[in-house]
Amino acid sequence: MSVVLRWGSATDVGMVRESNQDAMLVADPLFAVADGMGGANGGEVASATALDVLGSTFADGAGPDGLLEAVRRANAKVWDKGQLNHNLRGMGTTLTVLAKIEDEEGERIAIANVGDSRAYLLRNGELTQVTTDHSLVEEMVRAGEITVEEAEIHPRRNILTRALGVEPTVEADLDFVVPVPGDRFLLCSDGLVREVGDNQVGAVLRRLRNPDEACKELVGMAKTAGGHDNITIVIVDVEADQAEPAQIAAPVGKKKGKGKKEPKAPQPRTGGPLTFRMVLFFLTALTLLGLGVASVFWYARASYFVRADGNELVIYQGRPEKVLWFQPTLAERTGKTLDDVLPSQHQRLRNGQPQASFDEARQYITNLTTEAQTARGLTGSAATSSPGSSSTLPGGAPQ
Ligand code: MN
Repeated sequence: MSVVLRWGSATDVGMVRESNQDAMLVADPLFAVADGMGGANGGEVASATALDVLGSTFADGAGPDGLLEAVRRANAKVWDKGQLNHNLRGMGTTLTVLAKIEDEEGERIAIANVGDSRAYLLRNGELTQVTTDHSLVEEMVRAGEITVEEAEIHPRRNILTRALGVEPTVEADLDFVVPVPGDRFLLCSDGLVREVGDNQVGAVLRRLRNPDEACKELVGMAKTAGGHDNITIVIVDVEADQAEPAQIAAPVGKKKGKGKKEPKAPQPRTGGPLTFRMVLFFLTALTLLGLGVASVFWYARASYFVRADGNELVIYQGRPEKVLWFQPTLAERTGKTLDDVLPSQHQRLRNGQPQASFDEARQYITNLTTEAQTARGLTGSAATSSPGSSSTLPGGAPQ
């Protein structure tokens, strides 16, 4: 099913800063938020440059590669500008992009991210964070060193582990969502999430159907809460495309009709076998293509892995690394945490441990917890006293 997008947006300098170094791009099917940083006016230049290049490079109807190429060029341009002008040296920006893309998978929403601006999805009334922050505190949370609550007030929460334009190349995270009418996406700079909790944000997104009104309301809330930073918000709503069936049906029908009318008197002899051969050729090609796709699919999906998300041990179907466009999906939340296994296993679990089957993944976790219980039993401490998981990473599950 084809979908159309409706949107709203707002950006505000906030209550404390003198300039707005955030930038936004609203150019259906491409939407983005960038939060610039750097001395002099570097931040403004970085965010504006990135979105400028992004907008002019991304072409309607592009696939995931087209989107990543646009991000790559945006990075190169910001980097180059910083190298050429020593006042701008070291400047950089976050970049969170939402684009409606098309490829063999059909029509999807792709979200590319570098830095700590965020994308959220409100679906069926539930708000989940799609992106993962590239920040020091996010890594500390993932490593189980601090809690989400501690991260929010951590003195070094400003430190990014990845940004656009600070190095000659950059790697962006890429996530995909198959859009469903009723989906509502939110892109925002940290000036919103630092001031307004996810629960309050979700409540506004559910209450105000008009995307512009919802943006205004959220900006107002961030300012009331202190407005310590620039605030930028883009909301993108997914709606069913009412005009779709007629547009698609017409040209296909026409083509067929034309083809049938054309052959005249002496055609059948040469036309017959040729057509047959062509059909055979296409069938063979299709079969080979199908086998290729099937084997990639098998490779990507026929296995499982166990990974620690935050503190929680989760079983995924798929492979820890992305295979083409196949992303791992959550198979089971085990209820076990890193506290239930030996510390020597933590790093391995954070990286993700491939398992041949779902049962083996479960057995693997059982073995690890038994191992830890045994070890604890030997040292005399109670095995059952793992303090309930304190880590609750929202939206950590890949879709
Ligand atoms: Mn900011």
